[in-house]
Order: sequence, then C-alpha cells, then structure tokens
Amino acid sequence: MSEFKLDLQDTATAFADKSDSELKEKYRLFKMLNSPALNAIGMRAAKLALSIGLPVEGLIKTTIFEQFCGGETIEECETAIQKLGNANIGTILDYSVEGKATETDFDFTKDEIIRTIDRAKNDPRIPFAVFKVTGIAPLGTLERMSGKKKLDGKSQAKCERIHSRVNDICEYAAKRGQPVFIDAEDSWIQDAIDRMATEMMEKYNKGQAIVYNTIQLYRKDRLNFLRESRRQANKGGYILGVKLVRGAYMEKERERAIEKGYESPIHEDKTSTDEDYNEAIGYCLKHLDEVAFVAGTHNEHSSQLLASRMHSLGIAKNHPYIYFSQLYGMGDNLSYILAKNGYNVSKYVPYGPVSDAIPYLIRRAQENTSVTGQVSRELELIQKELKRRKLS
Ligand SMILES: Cc1cc2nc3c(=O)[nH]c(=O)nc-3n(C[C@H](O)[C@H](O)[C@H](O)COP(=O)(O)OP(=O)(O)OC[C@H]3O[C@@H](n4cnc5c(N)ncnc54)[C@H](O)[C@@H]3O)c2cc1C
Repeated sequence: MSEFKLDLQDTATAFADKSDSELKEKYRLFKMLNSPALNAIGMRAAKLALSIGLPVEGLIKTTIFEQFCGGETIEECETAIQKLGNANIGTILDYSVEGKATETDFDFTKDEIIRTIDRAKNDPRIPFAVFKVTGIAPLGTLERMSGKKKLDGKSQAKCERIHSRVNDICEYAAKRGQPVFIDAEDSWIQDAIDRMATEMMEKYNKGQAIVYNTIQLYRKDRLNFLRESRRQANKGGYILGVKLVRGAYMEKERERAIEKGYESPIHEDKTSTDEDYNEAIGYCLKHLDEVAFVAGTHNEHSSQLLASRMHSLGIAKNHPYIYFSQLYGMGDNLSYILAKNGYNVSKYVPYGPVSDAIPYLIRRAQENTSVTGQVSRELELIQKELKRRKLS
C-alpha cells in the first residue's frame, strides 16, 4: 500500500483567497518580521508610541493587526468568518485583551466571552469559543491558588469570583451545546487553571465534549498529565476535551526558572517537545472513544502525522472528536489544504482593541523572526506563491 501523504506545500490552495496585492502586503510584513533587528525596532517603537499616546493605532491596525486579527469587535470579524467559512474553515473568536487588572475589567471580559458564545450559537462556521483565565482573573491570585498556599480572606473572595466567572462561561456554553477551549498559560499559574478546567469537564462533559483544557507539550510533565487526565475522566464518566499545543512561553519559563533557581519545566530541546507532541496525538487517537482533541499547531510534520494515522486507522476525516487548528494569519497552508481534503479545521481569529492586542502581536512577531538567519516558514510559503504567480 502506498504511503498516505497530503501535499501541505500546495501554496495555490493555501493562498487561493488572497489577491495579488494582499499577498504582496503579507510578504512585506513577514519580510520585516523575519529580520530580528527590524522586528525588535518595530515592536519597541510601537509600544513606546502607544505608551506616550502617539496616534499609531491606525498604522498598527492596517499592518500587523490586520494580518493576525479579525478586527476590533465581533462585528468587524464578520469578513474573516465569511472568508474562512467559504473555505470550510471554522472561526474561533478569541477576545485577546491581555494585561487587565481590575474586577470591572474581568467582568467586562467575561461578558464579552459570553457574547462570543452567543455569536457562535447556531452558526456552524464557529465551532468553538475560547478564553484565557488571565483575562478574567488577577495573576497574583492565580499564582497563590497554584502554590497551594492557604489563602487569606481577601484572596479567598477573589478566588471565588474567578471560579464563578469560569463556571458562568462554561455553564453558558454547556446550555447552548457550544464547545469552549480554556487556553494554557504560564506553568506557575497552570495548576489553578487545570483544577478549574477539570472541575468544569466533570460538570459539563457528560456524554459530550464542551470544555477543553489545553496541554503544552513543551513541558516535561505534560504527557503524564494527559494520561492522568484521561484516567480521571474515565473514572468520573465524562469526556476529556484537550487542545494539544507545544507552548508559547518558553523563554519566559526558562528565564524565571533560572532567576528563582528551580529546574526548568520545559524540555531541553525541540526534538523532545516534538516527540511528546506526536506521542500525545497517538495517545488521543488510541482513546478516541473517550477523548475529544484539537491539534493546535503550525507544524507540518505533526499535522501530516495526524492525517496519516487517521487514514491508517480508518478514522473518518471529519470525525467530530478530531480538529486541526491554526492561528489567523499563520499556517494557512495547513488550514486550507486540510479543509479542502475534508478534515475538520478551525482558526483562532483574535480580536479586540488594537492597543490591548499588543502582547498577542508581539508573540506572533517573535514567532516569525529568524534566529538562525533562515527564512521563516510563513515567509518561505509566501515567496513560493509569489513565484508561482510570477509576481517575483
Ligand atoms: C490553535 C492554537 C491554539 C494555541 N493555544 C495555545 C495555548 O493555549 N497556550 C500556549 O501556550 N500556546 C498556544 N498556542 C501556541 C503554540 O503553543 C505554539 O507556540 C505555536 O503554535 C508554535 O508551535 P507549533 O506546534 O506550531 O510548531 P513548531 O513551530 O514546530 O514549534 C515551535 C514550538 O516548539 C517549542 N520549542 C521550540 N524550540 C524549543 C527548544 N529549544 N526546546 C524545547 N521546545 C522548543 C516551543 O513550544 C515553540 O513554540 C496555540 C497555537 C495554535 C495554533
């Protein structure tokens, strides 16, 4: 039998809905991001300009924001929802406001997340909702909750408010049958997030996958955590929902471990992260009757591996418990080609006020910077398509 392989380098499909001028615009941006010096200067200048009130929001909005975000409001994301929907790609509305600190802000964010669930309801083009616990909770309290220290009265009250916001969102989602992801964050607050996510799954995942926790396979302990979560779900009689990612905060994790003098929770090298990621995919496939999972990755090999394992195991491409997922503006080759081939695909479409999306944009900028002098994965694909269209 010949080996099953998708052509994930087919840039004609990947960029089919980009006009020549949109593609050139994308090229200019990714070319700038690819240069570490330009990237750093651009990001520092943007942060400084915003902090001293210079009117640069418009400029950011029409450049980097436009590439990686759907708009500033749910309504502004309609174009993205439509465009992705035309290619059979689902949208995940991601209200990506970070760094807020007051209870009023947290309540506002919770209400906005509920609005994304309302928007998703009855629209098959929006298969999931998502939230970050740090968007609805103070960092310090999450850290104390994760440290398993006894909380004083004030922290206890904050902790109860966090818990009730998480529950409000999950309960609302469950009542509408709308699956929701809980993103994974820094390891020193993740215990609190995991505990709440597990409790929500116990409550709302009976016979259906509503709540999905996120597992960062760059952490040395997460394969075991995945196995343990599955056993717990099996014992508790609920479906385990998981989004598998490699992890976005590696540098920060390593720096903190050195600073505080503990062993870094992150794998020593990329190969170990990749091995655990692929192993996690295999584990979820093996337990597909009790685990619903999403492969949140731009890694071609992992995506190819998942597709070919599904093929060899005779699993339907559109099995409701398996989704591929990428971020808006990235991994379009995977999203568009997998969707064209009949797989379930969805993309995070971040949105929110430009100034609040800066931390998210910085992570995307860093991800697309070349550290080794090589051309980034995205830039390489854009260049290939420009050449194919005879535009370069
Ligand atoms: C749909 C979606 C949802 C996401 N949700 C989250 C989330 O909730 N929480 C979160 O943290 N991230 C999240 N991410 C980001 C994700 O964790 C990765 O940062 C990003 O996708 C890049 O990894 P990759 O799998 O695409 O592939 P690759 O580009 O192949 O891998 C890059 C990743 O490998 C790891 N890595 C790189 N170098 C090393 C090294 N030297 N040693 C060890 N590991 C290394 C890092 O995790 C790095 O991000 C999400 C991504 C997607 C697509």
